[in-house]
Amino acid sequence: MSNSLEEMKTHRRGLMIVLSSPSGAGKTTLTRKLLAENDDMAMSVSATTRRPRPGETDGVDYYFVSKSTFSDMIDADEFLEHAKVFDHFYGTPRGPVEDALADGQDVLFDIDWQGAQQLTQAAADDLVKIFILPPNMIELEKRLKSRAQDSAEVIAKRMSKSEAEISHWAEYDYVIVNESLETAMDELRAVITAERMKRKRQLWLGPFVRSLTQGG
Ligand code: 5GP
Repeated sequence: MSNSLEEMKTHRRGLMIVLSSPSGAGKTTLTRKLLAENDDMAMSVSATTRRPRPGETDGVDYYFVSKSTFSDMIDADEFLEHAKVFDHFYGTPRGPVEDALADGQDVLFDIDWQGAQQLTQAAADDLVKIFILPPNMIELEKRLKSRAQDSAEVIAKRMSKSEAEISHWAEYDYVIVNESLETAMDELRAVITAERMKRKRQLWLGPFVRSLTQGG
């Protein structure tokens, strides 16, 4: 046999995994954990016109750009999707996503419902859309406050926007209620494993079955 089963299995189509939620539902923590345990998963780093919060790094959390740079990027068709969220612009740079997918990696997107809708139109076959809900709104507010990075006014505004974001839950393939981090992580792992198992994404199966039936 020329290829081992393990080698063949690496030939699969990468997933585009969208994680959306209202701010404070614990999405960032889930995202970090997923990335830490998956070598073949890359995070899509968005560009935004908002200012960095304390602790955020340019090129890691976001590409922090001016409004004029952002609109130049739109004109140059550099975004897979872009949207205005709260008072700022956010967009997903196209190049790194295409490179990662071509490299057989899954790509994780922390984007809002508007971005999820745009990606559905652009790349429905590769997309897995997951919505994260908080267990209740009190918990959501507590998590927003405990960040202590935004002003009270910004927090109040985000709370009022949360209901609008939540109203889009039914546009997603999977919905996870993040009451316990461990349970939510187990559920995420289950979704990703099942999606990776879909026949159409396992490009190695054709050659493998041929080698079986040809007595390989
Ligand atoms: P934050 O400013 O708290 O980091 O993000 C605010 C919201 O913008 C979050 O719901 C986040 O998912 C969303 N967001 C971040 N990057 C993008 C992006 O590239 N495109 C879209 N459509 N939404 C984004």
